[in-house]
This record gives sequence, structure tokens and C-alpha cells, in this order.
Amino acid sequence: MVRNAAIIGRGHNQVVHGPDPTAHAEILAIRDACATLGRFDLAGCELFSTCEPCPMCYAAAWWARISTTHYGCTRHDAERFGFDDAAIYDDLEGRGPRQGGSSRAAVCAQVLLLEVDHLVAA
Ligand SMILES: [Zn+2]
Repeated sequence: MVRNAAIIGRGHNQVVHGPDPTAHAEILAIRDACATLGRFDLAGCELFSTCEPCPMCYAAAWWARISTTHYGCTRHDAERFGFDDAAIYDDLEGRGPRQGGSSRAAVCAQVLLLEVDHLVAA
């Protein structure tokens, strides 16, 4: 993570070492940068990553308000090496093979809508 041409956060993948499925390099770099700056807002910062961030890391970059993300290879490049980020994007868009074409996000949204209806009716 870079801000004003200075490195303010670093991270490398520790998923297997953790073991922690959320310990992607981007997430750890965001956490490190937040600790450095003492805030969650990383506006004005630039994230540099070897590969296009997965949906989790992309969302984290959005939440952190990172200004620009630079990456070297795409999700399609990563797919050739066994990473299935493209399948996650398919799932989010309701085309996931594991869900028979429906998205896990849609299922969760439906549950939350039912919960809201229940709460409003109470
Ligand atoms: Zn990631």
C-alpha cells in the first residue's frame, strides 16, 4: 500500500500458513496500512497487487476507500494456475454451478427480506 510515494502497508498471502482463508495479501496490506495511519479510511492510497484482487479483497478496497488498485495479472490468468476467482464472480452474478444457477447472495438477501418483514410486522 502506497501513499504519497511511501509504503505504508505490506502483506503477503498467509492463507495456508494461518490457516486463515481471509489472509490474502491485499487484506493484510489494508490492515497494515490502517494500523500505520490509525484509521480505516485509506482514501489517497494506492494498492499494488500481483494479481487482480478477488471479490473479497476488491470489496475491502472499496470499504477502505482506496483510490487506485494496480495489479499485474487478471483473474483469468490466475485461473490457469488453479485459482477460482472467476467462479466466485459467476456465483455473485447468479451463474454459479454450485448453486445450480442461483447465487448464494440472492439466498441471503431473501432470508434478510423475510426477517425484515417479520420485524416490521411485530
Ligand atoms: Zn483476495
